Amino acid sequence: MNIHEYQAKEVLKGYGVRIQEGIVADTPEAAHEAAVKLNEQTGTSWYVIKAQIHAGGRGKGKVNETGSNGVVLAKKLEDVAEKAKNILGGTLVTHQTGPEGKVVNKVLVAQDVYYPGASEPKEYYLSILLDRATGSNVIMASTEGGMDIEEVAENTPEKIMKEWIDPKVGLQPFQARKVAFALGLSGNALKEMVKFITALYNAYEGTDSSQFEINPVLKTSDDKILAVDAKVNIDDNALYRQKGLAELRDVAEEDPLEVEAGESGLNYVKLDGNVGCMVNGAGLAMATMDMIKLVGGEPANFLDVGGGANATTVEAGFRIILQDPNVKAILINVFGGIVRCDRIASGVVEAYKSIGDIRVPIIVRLQGTNAAEGAKIIDDSGLKVFSAITLKEAADKVQSVLEA
Ligand code: GDP
Ligand code: MN
Repeated sequence: MNIHEYQAKEVLKGYGVRIQEGIVADTPEAAHEAAVKLNEQTGTSWYVIKAQIHAGGRGKGKVNETGSNGVVLAKKLEDVAEKAKNILGGTLVTHQTGPEGKVVNKVLVAQDVYYPGASEPKEYYLSILLDRATGSNVIMASTEGGMDIEEVAENTPEKIMKEWIDPKVGLQPFQARKVAFALGLSGNALKEMVKFITALYNAYEGTDSSQFEINPVLKTSDDKILAVDAKVNIDDNALYRQKGLAELRDVAEEDPLEVEAGESGLNYVKLDGNVGCMVNGAGLAMATMDMIKLVGGEPANFLDVGGGANATTVEAGFRIILQDPNVKAILINVFGGIVRCDRIASGVVEAYKSIGDIRVPIIVRLQGTNAAEGAKIIDDSGLKVFSAITLKEAADKVQSVLEA
């Protein structure tokens, strides 16, 4: 689960990570108020207004309606409301949102932390993530902060250092120092960075996160180290024990079909293809997607209806798949183990009749207990549903439907 930058910063702060202070606002007036308060709290007289969406690249991204960037600087209190107005309610398009962009409902009004001083402010990159290959956590750090880390990884991978952390032992003090040294720091900035990394790692562990990305981490002109941006991804499987964090979920940022599926207890992930599929079991679902590709189609989704599929789950699955305008055919591939094929077949026919205006052909492949009875129910229904028993038959039918 992703959370917004303003939420992530609050969470980090709770673990002692120094952040660029800010106050969230959902109207231009509230943004002005936030700036007034921020001035009282921090003394800042320059303000950064930052669109809150679950995507990066906001600084370079543009709001469709106004042409404003997603992160803008206001050098006067009187400019804050106007600049916030140019972002709020607009659709922000960044290289991470796709061309359709994301509607901005909130802005974070933050203190300017790039103020001049004894040294130049300098941006760094820091992330902590789960490395599944080694079963450990890994800290990635680079002096090339503020930029697209994907580009750095592509062109100058030697500029990203990695430090693996055994989750059983946790981050050792020498490891935090090693990372800070690798960033070329010395003196007070080095000490600050060690503290920053240590607090960040504690936050990562304490929140059951699978990914933290702080880009940029800033060394201010007076050698403070702080998080200017924060991308936090919490492991969904830990939300049962992270109740406070679970409440930070913003469904407006999620795919509406995925939200609806979750409410029906279905495991659904939208993809870009043209063949909708409904399958029981994640392994079978993946094999089915492979098969769709093999016959020249592209899966429109991943949908696992679970072991106990019945008429209600089949109908919910149908409705969700049919809301995707790209779907040209639906393939139902169910193994009758816990459920009997004849019951699934009846469920499919019932759901079909209940939804009514199904405009795409449906291929149903039932295998396992009572497979033949299931196929007969489909064939006798008189609906535009084709039955198949072997995977090959199902694939051939998908192919002929796509070519028709
Ligand atoms: P992203 O573009 O979505 O990753 O958003 P960031 O939070 O990383 O901000 C983008 C850029 O805005 C940063 O790389 C900075 O260059 C700039 N920025 C952020 N905070 C400040 C600030 O306090 N002062 C100034 N002058 N620039 C800032
Ligand atoms: Mn960033």
